Amino acid sequence: MNTLLMTPGPTYIKENVRLALAKEITNPDLDLEFFDFYKNICSKLQLLLNTKNKTLVLAGEGILGLESACASLIEDGDKVLCIENGIYGEGFGDFSKMYGGRVDYFHGNKRKGININQLENFLKENHDYKIATLVHCETPSGITNPIKDICKLLNSYNIISVVDAVSSIGGEEVYVDDWNIDIIVGGSQKCLSAPVGLTFLSLSSKALDAINNRTQPIRGFYTNLSTWNTWYEDKWFPYTQPISDLYAFDVALDNILEDKEGVISRHSKYATALRNTLKYSGLELFPETHPSNTVSTILVPDNLNYSDIFNNMLKEHNIMIAGGFDFLQNKVFRIGHMGENCYEDKLYLTLKALDSVLRDLGFNLEKHLHKEFVNQL
Ligand SMILES: *Cc1c(COP(=O)(O)O)cnc(C)c1O
Repeated sequence: MNTLLMTPGPTYIKENVRLALAKEITNPDLDLEFFDFYKNICSKLQLLLNTKNKTLVLAGEGILGLESACASLIEDGDKVLCIENGIYGEGFGDFSKMYGGRVDYFHGNKRKGININQLENFLKENHDYKIATLVHCETPSGITNPIKDICKLLNSYNIISVVDAVSSIGGEEVYVDDWNIDIIVGGSQKCLSAPVGLTFLSLSSKALDAINNRTQPIRGFYTNLSTWNTWYEDKWFPYTQPISDLYAFDVALDNILEDKEGVISRHSKYATALRNTLKYSGLELFPETHPSNTVSTILVPDNLNYSDIFNNMLKEHNIMIAGGFDFLQNKVFRIGHMGENCYEDKLYLTLKALDSVLRDLGFNLEKHLHKEFVNQL
């Protein structure tokens, strides 16, 4: 039997998506129909993101999208505000520096969502920024930041917002136009449950103007988003498209768009039931506010080791969960409940196994995790 993958990405890939990978291909540079196929994917992304902005899919996973946004926007000496409360948020600052940005940090509490009032006060005093970077779902800590309020606030100061939403798009609500998000970056292997290897983004006209009206040339070709300015009109791609991955991605998008609102409410329903289950059983979530609906980060109970939990889940139950890295190393374990993994049966099996593993390791659970989960639904 295959291992049940309950990690926060890559996630389970449904059969219709896997079958699309096997489709016979055409030459994506020469077949004019392929340009319309790609354009149609971009239109589906607009539906997913609730935007009229330009959308693109790039041949690389999430990191390529993040780096492309930084490389294309930031010129030497540009002031960038890095809004961070976790590992990905802080790392965004490093990308900005790599491309010449002068970076200031707004540090949030690592266990809480970004506090909008504190950010508002900070921006009242300091708002001379061209760009601000932030993360929607901080996957390692399991926190979903209130990007709606943050991006509207940034927009009121005319600061270009760049949002890493790699682990939230397809699991949490995202309204790019209503929330004034200039650039948002997603990935294929998280909530979209498509094969690893693609990233996508949307670009507002403000972001496109900043990219196209630079005084210094963009360093790099692969990360240069302006190479895509007239791809459809010119029937030209900057590089050969990963056609099989795109076939699969297209089907994965259809799977979600069939019932977009239902998919979001499914994530909210099961994530809430899981959190209540953990709370009533004596386990503690790492986030103190703003817990994510796509991944739960749970503190390793006192006197237990992360590696025992991980290994026993895998060896005895054939279920793979994830741990923490950086400042969360060995302190937490994580259950991904994103995309195709966010279903009652998979979470039930995971919690039944976790119940047995934690009891065997000597932790006294106050409820049976799997039974409580069903109660909470
Ligand atoms: C997964 C993820 C990425 C992309 O990283 P990978 O190397 O594809 O795993 C970027 N940002 C966030 C918040 C993520 O969860």
